[in-house]
Amino acid sequence: MTDLDASIRAMVFSFIQDSPENTLKNQANDRAFEEPIVGFSNGNDPLYQFYKRDIGEFYLTPLEIFSKTFPVVNIGASELTVVSWILPHIEKTKSDNREQTTYPSERWARARIYGEQVNDKLRDHVVAGIKGMGFEAVAPMLSPIWKVYEDSRYGRASNWSERHAAYASGLGTFGLCDGLITRKGKAVRCGSVVANLKVQPTERLYDGHHAYCLFFSNVTCGRCIQRCPVGAISESGHDKNKCRKHLKATEEFVKENYGFEGYGCGMCQTDVPCESKIPTERDLH
Ligand code: SF4
Ligand code: SF4
Repeated sequence: MTDLDASIRAMVFSFIQDSPENTLKNQANDRAFEEPIVGFSNGNDPLYQFYKRDIGEFYLTPLEIFSKTFPVVNIGASELTVVSWILPHIEKTKSDNREQTTYPSERWARARIYGEQVNDKLRDHVVAGIKGMGFEAVAPMLSPIWKVYEDSRYGRASNWSERHAAYASGLGTFGLCDGLITRKGKAVRCGSVVANLKVQPTERLYDGHHAYCLFFSNVTCGRCIQRCPVGAISESGHDKNKCRKHLKATEEFVKENYGFEGYGCGMCQTDVPCESKIPTERDLH
């Protein structure tokens, strides 16, 4: 591990470990996230060009995002690094949501709203930390460049995906329900920053984008199909429109029952074999 690699990891770890910002903002002042995982990918990784071809021309590569943000910096894709992280939900958030069948538990809904605010603060923190080291950095999700498009093939799709950056950065593979299965499971949130620095990319210890999902490894699973309250997951995958409609419908429930503006579901991320680990056949029994 280089000094740069270690410093960036430490930035993410110390924020989640020590910052009072890491909170669900509930009475118990629970932390939003447990110890993160951090990975790196090079800006010239062919996967980013593949995403552009596969997802659509609107999808931005790390170089495109960096160059649009810093037009005066003349740089090649290989001089960029994508720093990606995984923030695992705390056990109480997961165990509460395991008990739910339709609407999110309060902690889960808080993690969706206040947890994502923690993630945004972490994005800012990493950008500021990298700039403090003398480099330029941008968090695509916080950039005005970030947009959502209606795509004929994938439905609503954005021009940067935290999960795709995490996949490229060796942090996990996709499940049948589209969530990213990491070594800390799928009950997680992801974040990333693009910077003009060079760090050794994290090795991808998998041989395909569904490698960690039991449904795709000749084993029956499909527990996320059963968990979805609105039939948004099937053997053909994830129906984003059905899912989005259900998320919208949870807004009223969250407001009435938990007293804040929020939403969430996460049934397919909890009480499933891939919730907190890379699942094995044994987890099906
Ligand atoms: S619950 Fe089973 S089928 Fe669904 S993503 Fe997890 S491992 Fe794959
Ligand atoms: S988030 Fe909820 S509605 Fe959406 S796919 Fe998962 S279980 Fe279904």
